[in-house]
Amino acid sequence: MVPASEDEPPTESPIRSDLRRVPSLVLVNTGNGKGKSTAAFGIALRALGRGWRVRVIQFLKSGEWRTGEEEMLTRLGAEWWSAGDGFTWDSADMESSKQLAVIAWNSAGETLRTGSHELLVLDEITYAMTWGWVSTHEVVEAIRNRAPTVNVVLTGRDAPAEVVDLADTVTTMVDTKHAYNAGIAAKRGVDF
Ligand code: ATP
Ligand code: MG
Repeated sequence: MVPASEDEPPTESPIRSDLRRVPSLVLVNTGNGKGKSTAAFGIALRALGRGWRVRVIQFLKSGEWRTGEEEMLTRLGAEWWSAGDGFTWDSADMESSKQLAVIAWNSAGETLRTGSHELLVLDEITYAMTWGWVSTHEVVEAIRNRAPTVNVVLTGRDAPAEVVDLADTVTTMVDTKHAYNAGIAAKRGVDF
């Protein structure tokens, strides 16, 4: 519903009257700009506030990071698994990085099948798909056939088209400007 003018407050309700409720949603946060993971963890916060069981699986970050979001969300009850082994350029053995992603994906599949959690965040899973570490088709099918109460958030750049098709909500973060490009390092408390 388009307002008569952007300059005037709307006088008619923009809320549709034909909305339906669904047992769960699939969301994708993609694009080159900052905010993909932060937005996913914002949903995790809401979910915990509603008493949901929340599981976060990070496909690239390793357990050594112990980020601010892990610190806080685990304190609030989220189950957290940084299943990766860090930056691929630091990886001594790409085959073992791939194996970690496969193990993480198999475990994610279990959560999707059993419905053990109401929210499953698959952080940076798009890279595992893009690099051929896990099958995009398999991910899409597992999400499509998931236990109906599992909400899923996938993050990472270049989300595959099949994943975008499947999702209910897709947000592409636009890199209008990033401190990194001005030579500023990632900041504790803001970036991790
Ligand atoms: P965040 O976790 O801050 O929401 P993100 O999930 O959107 O970021 P990632 O690619 O996972 O993006 O970001 C990992 C790190 O890279 C973060 O420290 C983030 O601030 C930084 N980053 C994100 N976008 C950009 C960008 N366009 N240029 C440089 N660094 C970026
Ligand atoms: Mg991220």
